[in-house]
Amino acid sequence: MAAFRDELDGDKFHDECGVFAVFGHPEAANMTYLGLHALQHRGQESAGIVTSDGEQLYAHRAMGLVQDTFTQDQLAKLPGRLAIGHTRYSTAGGSHIKNAQPIAVDYSRGSLAVCHNGNLTNAEELRAELEARGSIFQSDSDTEVFVHLVAASQEVAIEDRIKEALGRVKGAYSLLFLTEDAVIAVRDPMGIRPLCLGLLPGKKDAHVIASEPCAFDLLDAEYVRDVEPGEMVIIDGTGIRSVRPLPPAPPRPCIFEYVYFARPDSKLGGRSVYDIRKGLGRALAQEHPIEADVVIPVPDSGVPAAIGYAAERGVSFEMGLIRSHYVGRTFIEPQQSIRHFGVRLKLNPVEPVLRGKRVVVIDDSIVRGTTSRKIVKMVRDAGAREVHLRISSPPTQWPCYYGIDTPTRRELIASSHSVDEIARYVTADSLGYLSLEGMIRTVGGGDSHCHACFSGQYAIPFTPNAKRHMRLVGV
Ligand code: SF4
Repeated sequence: MAAFRDELDGDKFHDECGVFAVFGHPEAANMTYLGLHALQHRGQESAGIVTSDGEQLYAHRAMGLVQDTFTQDQLAKLPGRLAIGHTRYSTAGGSHIKNAQPIAVDYSRGSLAVCHNGNLTNAEELRAELEARGSIFQSDSDTEVFVHLVAASQEVAIEDRIKEALGRVKGAYSLLFLTEDAVIAVRDPMGIRPLCLGLLPGKKDAHVIASEPCAFDLLDAEYVRDVEPGEMVIIDGTGIRSVRPLPPAPPRPCIFEYVYFARPDSKLGGRSVYDIRKGLGRALAQEHPIEADVVIPVPDSGVPAAIGYAAERGVSFEMGLIRSHYVGRTFIEPQQSIRHFGVRLKLNPVEPVLRGKRVVVIDDSIVRGTTSRKIVKMVRDAGAREVHLRISSPPTQWPCYYGIDTPTRRELIASSHSVDEIARYVTADSLGYLSLEGMIRTVGGGDSHCHACFSGQYAIPFTPNAKRHMRLVGV
């Protein structure tokens, strides 16, 4: 018996986590459950919620999807008007319940819970230092470093303890802290991972915070603004305050959020992800036009870019591949081999759309190339006369160290193969990637985003440990 990871999504970069918080609502746990539900695309391995009733914290964490992790009874055991929640796909730390978040602890001055989207680039050094001073870690997750730094601080107020901890960490973080009476949100000085602020309807002091604003829509919450890079937002009984605990840095939000990670119905930095993806498709069509009869997306993530490509070329857009939404992972492989089995669990071609046609297939990225090869073959086997692959981002050549699960550099096909070589490997009649300049121009804001996985220009300097790790993985 073979274990098949979902092959289609397994050959993608993965966002690590989604975070969500509520302050000032009697159904904080239920609201957080719904918020996490809307952020499920950001992490599917574990989920957790911690609430506060003003006196103590209540926690539930488990492996699995949000809908499988919480029952009504479990949510009823999470009382209070304050909550933070998390969905996780592991990066630092393995896939295990001990690494599920939020992490909740008691320390000398009370209780504290924390959850994190991102990745600390100096976590190893800090962990070694804290362990040498007697800290005992319960998980492999770099998020626990925050807990120990806050607990070890000599400051009195929680806000000052967190500020001191932030002064020690480096990397990408969108963080939520929960105490008995406050929710505190922090975004790293470059704002690499997203975080935004909203208001629940009819209650001017009931606030919500989420990785993406699509999580507000389900609650009818109003999007107020993004938490700014380097900002700490403190929400407690006195209201909402904003402070800047760290020196400012040039903002570098992740450009890949626009290409793939974020939900297309979200806005990031005030801009519609859907519109940007369509624009990426238009730019791709301008850079890599081809005579074709039909444009099809690799669903779901390739859909907006394919709409843009088709509109720009004046070619009809069709759904030539249908995606099953009911397949997670399967562990049963038929004894007799079935062509494209792993990919076919998720995708099936629509023969009348493809037979005899010159087909342009639009995808958002190629990671290892194995899935693209199967998709091209599937489209050709369904009768396509020509198959032209177009990618709405530049070649992904470098791993991400800022909270995205990526393979090693060696596994990224574009790190060692030219575009022509990749085209031959995936057996496409032609292959075209959007240029880095085209992507930056389409996303907008000048060259103010992180695009390290495309360009190798890492915005955060690496520590000696990280450099050693990079040498090991072939960067
Ligand atoms: S390296 Fe790539 S995936 Fe990682 S934060 Fe930068 S743009 Fe995003």
